[in-house]
Amino acid sequence: MKRIYLDHAATTPLCKEALSAMQPYMTEYFANADSTHFLGQESGNAVLSARDTIAKCIGAKSSEIYFTASGSEADSWTIKGVAFANKQKGKHIITTEIEHPAVFNACEWLKKEGFDITYLKVNKEGLVSIEDIENAIRKDTILISVMFANNEIGTIEPIKEICEIAHANNILFHTDAVQATGTIKYDVKELGVDLLSMSGHKFYGPKGIGALYVKEGVKIDSLINGGEQERGKRGGTTPVYLTVGMAKALEIAVKDIEQNNTYIKKLKAKLIQSIKDENIAFNGIVNGNNVLPGTLSVLFKDTLPGIVLHNLDIAGVEASAGSACAAASDKPSRTLLGIGLSEEDSKRTVRFSIGKDNTVEEIDTTIKSIKSIVERLKKGN
Ligand SMILES: *Cc1c(COP(=O)(O)O)cnc(C)c1O
Repeated sequence: MKRIYLDHAATTPLCKEALSAMQPYMTEYFANADSTHFLGQESGNAVLSARDTIAKCIGAKSSEIYFTASGSEADSWTIKGVAFANKQKGKHIITTEIEHPAVFNACEWLKKEGFDITYLKVNKEGLVSIEDIENAIRKDTILISVMFANNEIGTIEPIKEICEIAHANNILFHTDAVQATGTIKYDVKELGVDLLSMSGHKFYGPKGIGALYVKEGVKIDSLINGGEQERGKRGGTTPVYLTVGMAKALEIAVKDIEQNNTYIKKLKAKLIQSIKDENIAFNGIVNGNNVLPGTLSVLFKDTLPGIVLHNLDIAGVEASAGSACAAASDKPSRTLLGIGLSEEDSKRTVRFSIGKDNTVEEIDTTIKSIKSIVERLKKGN
């Protein structure tokens, strides 16, 4: 059976342009990017050019882009690295209760080191309130971290406004832009953010590479100590072909952003319209400018938790519970609880995330499958 992949928030396939760009650097140009010989320089130049491309895509300077092994590393590095570099100023961090585990668990870890974390609540749409942020700020607050777009319900947070408040209080601001990058057009200088995380495999690039934007002058300690790679900030031999693939994928994603989003929104609108039913509710924000174009979180009311997802899998539709990261555990999703769902309802929720390569036919087949599952469950079998 041909599978229908509707789990692009978990990961995306590698685009063919990125693959072709990477191939020479996996075989012929394999040299260490820091070696001084000819082949080393070929590798080094490829990394420089990849860094330039990524910087240009988000409005940064090349020297402000640091490669990491994942989005998770970029997030953890920010939380721990900023905390340790600025702890003489204070030990208080503000974030939200719906962050990705990479931010959340790094914050939890810092508690052992005497840091105090405020987790802000969100409303039923998944939005944090500016007023809550203002009220949470203390003299010893050193960092505010709020995700750009949520990975489970797709809500886009008011990053620019939050950043302005942080700066008005002399506090650093980080955003986890792993879901947003390649999907939402942004410019780091216009947003004003101090740190921003991204990950290659969420925008049709390779897995195993991410990047952290660190604004010039921002103090951050290293997480991975080693050689002089990444200007001495992040040790480890640079995976040249991954940097090349990530840059190519981002370049293409940004170039095609409007065209892809228009198409994806159309597919999502069709899905929403066609599965509307009294036994179905849509979580968070369904459409408009405050939600990712391809993400749709659906609650199948009064069903056995997990049963719809299981039946979709049998029907050939690859969707996800709250998120892929949480799928392995039995814990209810923090995001879904955060927007007010009960623990049971959080486990009755399915996340569909549409990508640029999904076809109208695939969405039609998915609609049929969902309707037939819902009908069957209504009849009690
Ligand atoms: C996927 C994801 C991450 C983690 O990125 P990896 O490269 O898979 O480690 C972090 N934050 C968000 C919002 C994500 O969606």
